[in-house]
Amino acid sequence: MRLLATLVLEAKPEEDVNKQEILAVFEDAASRPLAYAQAWKDRTGGKVVGSFPMNFPGEIAHAAGTLPMILQESDDAITLGHGLLFPFYCGYTRSMVDQAARQEFNVLDAIMFGDHCVQLLGMADAIRMQLPDTKVIFFQLISSMCDPWTFGRAVESFEVLKNELEEFLGSKISDEAMHESTKIFNRNRQMIRKLYEMRKSGAVSLSAVEMQHIVKSSMIMDKVDHNKLLEQFMAYVEANPEPEPKGIRLHLSGHFCQAPKREVLDMIEDCGAIIVGDDLYHGFRYISTDVDEAGKPVEALAKWYMERNTGVPCPTRVQNDVDWDSFLLKAMEQEKAAGMIVLMAKFCEPHMYYYPEVKEAFEKKGVPHLLIETEHESMAIEGLKTRVETFLEIVKRRQAA
Ligand code: SF4
Repeated sequence: MRLLATLVLEAKPEEDVNKQEILAVFEDAASRPLAYAQAWKDRTGGKVVGSFPMNFPGEIAHAAGTLPMILQESDDAITLGHGLLFPFYCGYTRSMVDQAARQEFNVLDAIMFGDHCVQLLGMADAIRMQLPDTKVIFFQLISSMCDPWTFGRAVESFEVLKNELEEFLGSKISDEAMHESTKIFNRNRQMIRKLYEMRKSGAVSLSAVEMQHIVKSSMIMDKVDHNKLLEQFMAYVEANPEPEPKGIRLHLSGHFCQAPKREVLDMIEDCGAIIVGDDLYHGFRYISTDVDEAGKPVEALAKWYMERNTGVPCPTRVQNDVDWDSFLLKAMEQEKAAGMIVLMAKFCEPHMYYYPEVKEAFEKKGVPHLLIETEHESMAIEGLKTRVETFLEIVKRRQAA
């Protein structure tokens, strides 16, 4: 099976392909990640390695010749998964277990993950029970980011991960292959970061959903193919400037492991906002930091792991010298954002623990923000719309004042 959007694109000469057609390919992969993985497997005969968010270095699995993909929350209602995980776990973990129970992960040859929260660990155990024939590789990541031993422990973790992957695949992953994959991944991150800059300056018009499709498809697709499409996309948008989008400039924050629902993002923009920046995992957080292309590859990954938390702080990590709230205020200043909407996945403990600090810092500075709790199950969009409209009115009045 091939993805429909890819077929449409392949049928056209490269120079005739436009922005919307490339976005359609990204959307197709982002909306049907497991179908994409199956299509890739049918085409290449390679192995697919799924991983959970948010700290998996896909470079290692790519260097081993597999397709690394970040496993995604499904839009489907949870059925079998109800009996396998507590209902007060976040939507991402419940959806993952549900997909495993429905045997939807059969395309995966292995699943790998570094722990970053208690719910993720519970989910992994439930998935192991459902998929006894799938290799589930766990690597412990140090969460304390500023101790003298942090770097060494991070190196050890990535060594363990690499060794386990090599054992599973039955072949060694060379440093040369790691360097090559690092270059490919960096190129991907750099292009998407450039799009972020262009969106911020108004040089490209990209809705929140479109930007999400770009990042989410990068988590799923073969990076070489994704880079090729991104190169075409960049060439098109640079050659075809569009009028700068108008609206109230907002920053979107939070939402760690799962992509925010399309209807929520569309609703925010339909109310008159434009999203000019974010620190979502399905956004800037995923592409914020490059990996060193020289030196020992595993050490470069450990450095990347630590630098990511300085680049975009994460409340699942502990670091005394970085502050998520200060980062957000600074990012908003650079983006000329007039307000921020915090998207918090229901029952996401790390986010719930940290949010009061963000709230306090924003109130102290007088920067308007709105908290929206999101659910895996259907959400009352009309009620949310009234809250967003009221929030935008407040932002407008503050700007006028
Ligand atoms: S960090 Fe939040 S969203 Fe991610 S698995 Fe943990 S509770 Fe769920």
